[in-house]
Amino acid sequence: MRVAAIAGGTGAAKLLRGLAATVPQRALTVIGNTGDDAEVWGLHVSPDLDTVAYALAGRLDTARGWGLAGETFRCLEAMAGLGAETWFNLGDRDLATHIWRTHALREGVPLSVVTAELARRQGVAARILPMSDEPVRTRLRTPNGWLSFQEYFVREKALVEVFEVEYAGAGAARPAPGVVEAIGDADLVVVCPSNPVTSVGPVLAVPGVVEALATTRAHVVAVSPIVGGAAVSGPAGALMRARGLPVSPAGVATAYAPWLRTLVIDRQDDGCRPELGRLGVTAVIADILMTDRERELALARVVLRCTE
Ligand code: GDP
Repeated sequence: MRVAAIAGGTGAAKLLRGLAATVPQRALTVIGNTGDDAEVWGLHVSPDLDTVAYALAGRLDTARGWGLAGETFRCLEAMAGLGAETWFNLGDRDLATHIWRTHALREGVPLSVVTAELARRQGVAARILPMSDEPVRTRLRTPNGWLSFQEYFVREKALVEVFEVEYAGAGAARPAPGVVEAIGDADLVVVCPSNPVTSVGPVLAVPGVVEALATTRAHVVAVSPIVGGAAVSGPAGALMRARGLPVSPAGVATAYAPWLRTLVIDRQDDGCRPELGRLGVTAVIADILMTDRERELALARVVLRCTE
């Protein structure tokens, strides 16, 4: 079975680990969000692509949900000593990834090729594709003006009000090589439990991706990042509200209509079934909180059964 997964960072990493333990990694293509890529100290950082690669390589710091396990931050401390901005946490070994990526990009290598090579060198057999080789940047309008995603999420700790979200550059971006084909050739497309506005939204904003989702013969299934009227973690609730979406599985289904077929929701959201039905989406009830490896695996199995 060929699986294509649309992924953000921390929420996606858990489900992808479960999927990669259930199907051969070679059968898995991950289409990653680059809307929250950032330049830090002159380095190109791709937080979501790295989170996915580190997770599939078994190197992710699972407690934090980002960065490498057993990481140290001595360079960050030294940078603080020099008076540099240090609100974006870059670990010492993590820095190698960003230096390697930045060097290759400056030589003119496309992000998709850099990403594939970084995955290969970490022993990841799954294919990891950025949504686009062209820059698309998520920006949020707040009382302090427009902020990049990292300024909003890391520097401001997602505590400021958001009026508007845009994906700068999306209109002119093209899907990275293999993205449209992966969706079209898959037996199953999985939209990971990621932030619908700032993780999945940028991927959908790349022209051609929604068309591929609408025409694929694959079953398209999403896992809700919303449980019991709130996001499992992070600012998905506030950002969905800013987009005029209800903070519920129905809000998730609305963001993904009309190409979504199945939404996996938590037991406590059973009451959403009729509303999802009206949106043309079939609800599958499961334990969708991935608090340990067993639950990641169990949820991956539920998702894979959605093709039956
Ligand atoms: P980010 O780029 O690090 O924000 O990564 P994602 O967008 O992939 O992950 C954040 C989203 O995942 C949030 O909206 C959470 O509600 C959701 N999430 C995190 N952990 C879980 C989980 O165990 N189960 C489910 N269903 N959603 C989760």
